[in-house]
Amino acid sequence: MASTSLSAAQSSLRRYLPLIITLDNAKSGLFYYVVIIYVIKAHRHLRARGITASARELYTWISQHVIRLILRVPSTRQKVAAQMDKAKLDIENRLVPKGENVKRHLTLPSEGKNLEWIIQEMDTMDTELGGSGDSWKQGKLSGAVYHGGDELTKIIVAAYSRYCVSNPLHPEVFPAIRKMEAEIVAMCLKMYHGPSGSGGTMTSGGTESIIMALKTYRDWARSVKGIKEPEIIVSTTAHAAFDKGAAYLGLKIHTIAIDPYTRQVNVKHVKRAINPNTILLVGSCVNFPDGNQDDIEALALLAKKNKIGLHVDCCLGSFIVPFLEAAGLSKGNSNGRYRLTPFDFTVDGVTSISCDTHKYGFAPKGTSVIMYRTTELRRFQYYVNPSWSGGVYASPSLSGSRPGALIAGCWAVMQHMGTEGYLSSCREIVTAARTIADAITDDIPELYVLGDPPASVVAFGSKHPNVDPLEVGDGMSRRGWHLNGLSQPKSVHIACTRLTLPLVDQFIADLKDSVREAKVAPSGKGSMVAVYGLGNSSAVGPEMVGQLASTFLDALYKA
Ligand SMILES: *Cc1c(COP(=O)(O)O)cnc(C)c1O
Repeated sequence: MASTSLSAAQSSLRRYLPLIITLDNAKSGLFYYVVIIYVIKAHRHLRARGITASARELYTWISQHVIRLILRVPSTRQKVAAQMDKAKLDIENRLVPKGENVKRHLTLPSEGKNLEWIIQEMDTMDTELGGSGDSWKQGKLSGAVYHGGDELTKIIVAAYSRYCVSNPLHPEVFPAIRKMEAEIVAMCLKMYHGPSGSGGTMTSGGTESIIMALKTYRDWARSVKGIKEPEIIVSTTAHAAFDKGAAYLGLKIHTIAIDPYTRQVNVKHVKRAINPNTILLVGSCVNFPDGNQDDIEALALLAKKNKIGLHVDCCLGSFIVPFLEAAGLSKGNSNGRYRLTPFDFTVDGVTSISCDTHKYGFAPKGTSVIMYRTTELRRFQYYVNPSWSGGVYASPSLSGSRPGALIAGCWAVMQHMGTEGYLSSCREIVTAARTIADAITDDIPELYVLGDPPASVVAFGSKHPNVDPLEVGDGMSRRGWHLNGLSQPKSVHIACTRLTLPLVDQFIADLKDSVREAKVAPSGKGSMVAVYGLGNSSAVGPEMVGQLASTFLDALYKA
């Protein structure tokens, strides 16, 4: 009896022991697996960012958490809330008209109004809001309005009104719109030397083009390479649309430092950041902050070697960079400055390019083109739902219904400008930018030009200890200029457009005056100094600027 139960126990032990051991192994195996995964992730992160940058990141992360904790203490919370309320009032006072006699339209009129009434109401708004309807015509802008000529406006309006109700979601109903969109993409592919088999789509703007590209690579990498935790590598000068897209789509983004002199992404650091989860490298031609281009050829070699994508952001370069060579400007000046190196599909390894027709293409706002080296790659951009109760649903980009009228406007502008028109625009605008850059380099010893911008943007920083470039920017604001303040380093830029052409001498004179003023009597009160000074001055800065920015967005919707 005893021996039978013993043998039964033995046999059951024999049966279950392996299981118990495996379970134990599995547990520790799982433990080691998790540890290894984290070690790999940490190692990749460290490789990508470097030890100092990772330490700085950790420090920033900790200090921001500490700050958030401090901000929760009731007394500080009240102080911050009071400051924020004040800032909110400030912002609203600047944006939103106040007073009893401002007519507000907060509910639908019970009876519809006629055209005459509508135009009159718009006139009233324009005058009441400080004649803002056409203040841009003074031309003291950075970017924003790229052409603005009356003749071109007439052409856009004519095309728009003709196709006002059209929607490319229904190509059988609006066949002309379908044809025009395909032709716009084809013309852009030609400009950027798309090989046979390349393709693209239109989108609503540079941001959508970039977000669609990110989605394309994410789905491509998942399907072709089985990557489930995709990562992309950009530079600090890449447009914020990449961060926005990565945030929307759940991609990990590595932001790589640039060379402070050339302002190009440090390719060695990009190489170090590549790991098996990397799906995409990004280069700009030209970048938004300082108008320099990345070394696209070097990035392309890396992308090819690792069998990943390379997106070239030509949203700003748009209809300038493809014409620089023909304009005789791609080789730079006699000092070897402002040279343009290859950036388009002629560079093997470039797999997609975004180009904003609504910037230097002079098309109406709300148009951009995203191009791919192969139509197979473009497939990953599409969204298709064959089993929707509303019918088979297929759309090429983010929007469902789209404004066909904008496509018509874009097509009309491209036909009107032609190669000759864009070529002379490129020549004039780039010459204006280089005249400004040369004047800063040669005649304003307190300032320097960031890098060697080959196209239309010029950014300046300060090399004089008593001249704050943001203070210079505020001086320019007092002289009627709307320029952009930048960080890393503190600097200011102008994106020259057709509106800048008659104002080049004025710009240089105003800049000299602003430098003199900034040196002798800095006010320290302008908005550039306030915003960017705050953002960079302390650990609290980014948190506060973030809150302020959201307050600003709230104010936009105050009726
Ligand atoms: C303007 C710009 C974008 C984004 O374009 P939007 O049309 O404003 O969405 C992207 N990249 C660069 C370099 C740009 O200048």
